[in-house]
Amino acid sequence: MRRPGQTKAPRIRAVLREIRDRYGTITLDALGKQRTPELLDALTAFHGVGKKTAACVALFELGRDVCPVDTHVHRIVKRLGWVSERVSADAAFDELAGRLPAGEAHEAHIALIRHGRTLCRPRPRCRECAVRRLCPSAE
Ligand code: SF4
Repeated sequence: MRRPGQTKAPRIRAVLREIRDRYGTITLDALGKQRTPELLDALTAFHGVGKKTAACVALFELGRDVCPVDTHVHRIVKRLGWVSERVSADAAFDELAGRLPAGEAHEAHIALIRHGRTLCRPRPRCRECAVRRLCPSAE
């Protein structure tokens, strides 16, 4: 059985080869010229690149106003009622994009990750949470 790193390394090499073949150089320069929706489509077209990874590249490498939805963000935005209860992480990304005020995605992402690691864990510590009065899932 392959360990995670053994799967990721060949995929990363394959994506880098594809970028070089398509754009003539191994940089994000050409991709970075695209509007955000097209950029996300182009990134997720690479084999093994999902919406979360594409959004992380868009946010952290290209400074786009998007909030990647990882397991913490997914759990919290559902609890807060910012997205539908049964929505997948990928669909939550789209719902969230329509709800966050412009320019707030980076700060929101960092705050949600921090909140998910500290208080709004799988077993939430609602009594200590500053937003419990606003949260429909508060215990
Ligand atoms: S009140 Fe509880 S469920 Fe709601 S955001 Fe805070 S820790 Fe999470």
